[in-house]
Amino acid sequence: MTKDPSFLADRAGLEYALEALLKAVDTTRIPVLPGTLPQNGIGEHAVLSALAPIVLDRAQPLGEAQSFAHMDPPTPWITWATSLWNAALNQNLLHPDLSPAATEIEARVIDWLAPLYGMDGGHMVPGSTIANLTALWAAREVAGVTKVITSQAAHLSVAKAAHMLGLEFKALDTNHYGRINPSTLGDDLSKSALVLTAGTTSAGAIDDLGLCGRAAWTHVDAAWAGPLQLSPEYAPLLAGIENADSVSISAHKWFFQPKSSGLILFSDNKKAESVISFGGAYLSTANVGVLGSHGAIAVPLLATLLAWGQNGLAQRIERAMGLADDLWRRLEAHPGVELFGRQESGVILWRPKNAGDVDTVLADLPAGAASVTRLGGKRWLRHVAANPNADIEALWLPISRALE
Ligand SMILES: *Cc1c(COP(=O)(O)O)cnc(C)c1O
Repeated sequence: MTKDPSFLADRAGLEYALEALLKAVDTTRIPVLPGTLPQNGIGEHAVLSALAPIVLDRAQPLGEAQSFAHMDPPTPWITWATSLWNAALNQNLLHPDLSPAATEIEARVIDWLAPLYGMDGGHMVPGSTIANLTALWAAREVAGVTKVITSQAAHLSVAKAAHMLGLEFKALDTNHYGRINPSTLGDDLSKSALVLTAGTTSAGAIDDLGLCGRAAWTHVDAAWAGPLQLSPEYAPLLAGIENADSVSISAHKWFFQPKSSGLILFSDNKKAESVISFGGAYLSTANVGVLGSHGAIAVPLLATLLAWGQNGLAQRIERAMGLADDLWRRLEAHPGVELFGRQESGVILWRPKNAGDVDTVLADLPAGAASVTRLGGKRWLRHVAANPNADIEALWLPISRALE
């Protein structure tokens, strides 16, 4: 039987793909995607030529000097190389016998990271939406909780998870800084899962993690700010997280991973896994958690951690935090600016005092410099320090012009 070349690591195809990534693509040709499924293919090389101008040119660059708008970082090239391995090898951790190296690598990444958060294990997931669902599922089974208590600033995935799991959902008011107000928690939390947020999506606020341990189960949604724990300078912001029962982190945020990559960590992983595992049928080992097939997303994360070490990763996050500090100070010093609050975890919210029109300012800023969020009944311009390669002068110039 002849081998199908589409499944071979065709050197010419790989080289073509890399070249297309690297070279400035000819945009004079504007290819149109067919409206219906083509009956006959045009071949791999023709596809790369046709798709490169669409996919590469019509993507918002995330590592540019003025990219400072969302929680999506640029990714290091070591993750591109290892993701190419992943695509070519297509390992499935659902069947550890078919993915011996990938299974070991995920276990190793968890062994490296979990203790930093006071957790003893966990597994990788496609992001914190799934991590939050997994955590609350375990909370319901292990601690018998019937209710989820969080703040109004919690990510919508917490409400979604409560809905799916049939748990009552209560979102408490936040205080002036966007944090959960401890006095509103109530006394009896014996049937509640308390979800605290480390880095709220809108404002980057970090709830008081000293509250960990107050409820039957405490989950910390550290999707955004979790990686600060690797920095000696910023780890104190997360003090108390070690007393949580579970922690979510989105690795495709401040661990600089390609999507979709995240972690769910448990303080007692054995107990948690025992209630969220299903076995039998064609499986040689139990299927843990929400997903079925499970890719080798730990490989690019391990490669990044090996390449940079904890210090290298921390330095990049610290550089991004330094940029946020700088921008925050410039905005604070500007008489025409109203700030939402301090910047805690690299998220800055501000609005023009007079112009009043957030959208006009936004339209004056380069694409990717700011996003818009609504909080406390007001609309705010939002910057997020996901990109350590941003240039503060390049960002500040259009902002100061827009405020003139
Ligand atoms: C981004 C985010 C999520 C959702 O994570 P995904 O990785 O996008 O699924 C949950 N909680 C917070 C606080 C977030 O910032």
